[in-house]
Amino acid sequence: MSSQSAASPKRKTASPTSSYVSWGRYPAAKHAHVYKPAWDDQVPAILESASTASLLPYGLGRSYGDSCLNTDRNLVDCRRLNRILGFDESTGVLRCESGVTFADIIYVFLPKGWFLPVTPGTRFVTVGGAIANDVHGKNHHCAGTFGAHILQLGLHRSDHGVVVCSADLNSDMLRATIGGLGLTGVIAWADIQLRRVAGPWIDAELTPFHSLQSFLDLSRESDGRFEYTVAWLDCFAGKIPRGIFFRGNHSAAADNRLKPKHGPKLPFALPGWCLNRYAVKAFNATYYHVHAAKAAKAKQRSSPVPYDSFFYPLDSLRQWNLLYGKQGFLQYQCVIPETNLDAFEELLNRIARSGMGSFLGVLKQFGNAPSAGILSFPRPGLTLALDFAMRGASTLQLMKSLDEVVQQSGGALYPAKDARMSPAMFESSFPHWRTFVPYIDPKMSSSFWRRVTETSHA
Ligand SMILES: Cc1cc2nc3c(=O)[nH]c(=O)nc-3n(C[C@H](O)[C@H](O)[C@H](O)COP(=O)(O)OP(=O)(O)OC[C@H]3O[C@@H](n4cnc5c(N)ncnc54)[C@H](O)[C@@H]3O)c2cc1C
Repeated sequence: MSSQSAASPKRKTASPTSSYVSWGRYPAAKHAHVYKPAWDDQVPAILESASTASLLPYGLGRSYGDSCLNTDRNLVDCRRLNRILGFDESTGVLRCESGVTFADIIYVFLPKGWFLPVTPGTRFVTVGGAIANDVHGKNHHCAGTFGAHILQLGLHRSDHGVVVCSADLNSDMLRATIGGLGLTGVIAWADIQLRRVAGPWIDAELTPFHSLQSFLDLSRESDGRFEYTVAWLDCFAGKIPRGIFFRGNHSAAADNRLKPKHGPKLPFALPGWCLNRYAVKAFNATYYHVHAAKAAKAKQRSSPVPYDSFFYPLDSLRQWNLLYGKQGFLQYQCVIPETNLDAFEELLNRIARSGMGSFLGVLKQFGNAPSAGILSFPRPGLTLALDFAMRGASTLQLMKSLDEVVQQSGGALYPAKDARMSPAMFESSFPHWRTFVPYIDPKMSSSFWRRVTETSHA
């Protein structure tokens, strides 16, 4: 296919375009048109033919809300731009196109003894999507975000052609593109610094905790000794939070005989009532007791677990998002400064009182690494991520009441997980967002951006 045909408005490359959703399946979106370039050299023609503020790049749609959506306008689906362009075995620097997924990178490079420098809780994300949200992982306290490991990238701009960005070249554009929500242009390729590992195993430990303080003690005590830390939180446990603290390091064991599991796939959306509060409460209690028993048996000794079950437990049920039914779900991910633990307790109280807690409560203490991007979300503090089935006004009302607490505490919400924060909440989460505006490509916009900036910069 020529570049012309990929860009031509007459040659529609995808329809019907309501099939492009985000992971939470809320809000519903309908796109006017989806471009699906197969080759990098088709992208300039797409940018050239587009009208102002009409395009948005799309990866694997693993963002939960509307930051990867562009309702009534156009998407550029980057998944077919998925070539590995080069690898330097002596330094571990990988150059690849932006549609390459983390699963691809692990598949090719883990057997050679290289792993991702930072990974989110799913490997089904693209390199472009991971840069645009500057994703974080369980090693934020020692490695910072994914963007901190991007040495260089090439960016298609509608106004300047391909712009190469690194610490020495167009460094301000690099800082805008990392965490830039796809608004600075279409990332063509990136140089990623991979990290050496002996093999696919993680020496992991788990420890139950029964208060926020004991979570913090565990987290601080683990920071210097464990590369990866994260906790699961039972948000139905009432005033005193309980949970399981997971920590681990790459194992020195070099046994490479490990194949990634391809778990079952949920074929369709379940009826919304399946995931009611009693089912979730029962799930949480069982999860807690099973893991507490495992911890008691292990007696604080670590044991080797495959990397995929340590990093990506949710990937084992593909399309698990359909569990929430046709109405979809919302994730609430905030960060609260540690100086404000009362606010954190208030947040948990409000969730417990609402009876709307989720079975995927994740708690993590971020480190002090400076942000790699202008709009990067991670900052020092405690981050909590919870899923809520979309039940209409009551769900949105709960989230609004959580916003009050986060806002008063000086905290922030994560755009990659958001489908409903107000412009005021965005302003208090990213008070310097206006310094980002000059870097926006004139042809780019998104549903998220128009919502949080009240269309003034669409
Ligand atoms: C189960 C699960 C667990 C998760 N865990 C974490 C976690 O631990 N930490 C974390 O930080 N996030 C986490 N996430 C969120 C996820 O990592 C991010 O939303 C990620 O950005 C999704 O990547 P994607 O390829 O699906 O991009 P999409 O969701 O499709 O797009 C994300 C953004 O990237 C932009 N974009 C996509 N491709 C390009 C490109 N080529 N050029 C420029 N911009 C582009 C889009 O415009 C959009 O703004 C999780 C998500 C799921 C479903």
